Amino acid sequence: MKILFVASEVAPFAKTGGLADVTGSLPRALARMGHQVAIILPLHRMVRQRGFPPTDTGLRLTVAMGRQREVCGVRQLDHEGVRVWFIDRPELFERNGLYGEAGVDYPDNAQRYGFFCRAVLEALPRLGFQPELIHVHDWQTGLIPLLLATELHSTPFYRSIASLLTIHNLAYQGLFEPEVLPLLGLPEELFHPEGIEFYGKLSFLKAGIFFADRITTVSPTYCQEILTPESGCGFEGILRSRQKRLSGILNGIDPEDWNPAADSAVPYPYAADSLDGKALCKRRLQRELGLPQQAGTPLLAMVTRIDRQKGIDLVLDAWPRLARRPVQLALLGSGDRALSARLQALAAADPDRVAIRLGFDDALARRIYAGADLFLMPSRFEPCGLGQLIALRYGAVPLVRSTGGLADTIFDIDSRPQTGNGFCFEQPTSQALLQAVDRALARFGERTAWRRLVAVCMRQDYSWRRSASRYLDLYLQTLEEHRERTGKR
Ligand code: ADP
Repeated sequence: MKILFVASEVAPFAKTGGLADVTGSLPRALARMGHQVAIILPLHRMVRQRGFPPTDTGLRLTVAMGRQREVCGVRQLDHEGVRVWFIDRPELFERNGLYGEAGVDYPDNAQRYGFFCRAVLEALPRLGFQPELIHVHDWQTGLIPLLLATELHSTPFYRSIASLLTIHNLAYQGLFEPEVLPLLGLPEELFHPEGIEFYGKLSFLKAGIFFADRITTVSPTYCQEILTPESGCGFEGILRSRQKRLSGILNGIDPEDWNPAADSAVPYPYAADSLDGKALCKRRLQRELGLPQQAGTPLLAMVTRIDRQKGIDLVLDAWPRLARRPVQLALLGSGDRALSARLQALAAADPDRVAIRLGFDDALARRIYAGADLFLMPSRFEPCGLGQLIALRYGAVPLVRSTGGLADTIFDIDSRPQTGNGFCFEQPTSQALLQAVDRALARFGERTAWRRLVAVCMRQDYSWRRSASRYLDLYLQTLEEHRERTGKR
């Protein structure tokens, strides 16, 4: 198949979270299966900062944004069998953040990502790339299915292109004031509840949900959860109306990208059958973070966006009781200011036990996965979660709240002695978290049982193998349905 991925972030070029991991690794997995896959993302400042200067294709596109005509370039590089194009418009994307800075969104995000969507579609015929299907991701790309189904549906080049939207996190809806409609070149007629209006605002995500041929989300459990008022973020009605076109496919990770035996950021390589390196990694990490180098003290870790979603406040609330146990806590994260300040205060008050590093640091993240004993994800909700999958691979035993993708991937060892790969709790309370930590600490005390559990975790297979085939089946089905529909038009 000929497939185009479009996303605002793609690893290793630009990343703020799990979205980038998926849009980086799924295309590669599909390319390895013999499919022709290309990716388009904006040329963020971060791309060059991460050491990927793409070359100029020489193409200059003129993109109509309402009455305005805006020009951009297209750059490219080839990465592990995948062609990657970058929409080059410095006025919009040469910035420190992808969506905002210091927790504040850029005020022109509608124009930035609206422009991106239009530029992608404008670029395709000029690049001579006509995909059978465009796989778009999250709100930033939501206008692509809309434009394909409305403005462009009678243009021969675009007519045959099917679209599939993956929702990585329903909490991010791309909501903007209706005044931006003309700036995006969108007609007023679309602004109604059966279109892109969402409680008086324009929602890019709703545009995608409404107009994509198919919608997926990133785990089967989250797919069920988002149909309910508790987890649907107001979209449950729309999603239920499109339920026949909605499915949940679990994310994978690239086992070569995330491999403690061959990760240049891991100081002492190790594998499931030779865990000595992991103990050394822990010691080195404790030293790096200024924590006492005690092999026998369990090191609890988090690598996370700092957001209420991630249950960081549950850890903060549990800490006074947790601190009575012999534990250390290491957290690397960035995001919410108030929670970050609380975390820093905790580290300042208890520096021998708590190390907080604020910022985004891929290498430190890898050293933490490698050095940690327990990896905490007490998320309030979690569409899929990659942290727990990476933690498994690095032998940091996941301790999670059973929600969304966490419920699909982590099974409690105390209730499933044969197949368990972590510790789970149900209620989003610090008390429930604490009880799970206590069970983990009890097992940590039994050295042989703990080493066995670590090895079991490391042997789990959450690679893309299975999920990439599921996507492929769905692509084919989507294409068939699209052909039937457009053929009948
Ligand atoms: P999210 O909701 O943020 O997408 P996931 O668990 O799906 O959560 O994916 C998070 C990804 O981002 C993982 O690869 C994790 O290691 C990485 N990550 C999160 N925060 C940081 C950070 N501050 N520094 C480095 N990597 C991070």
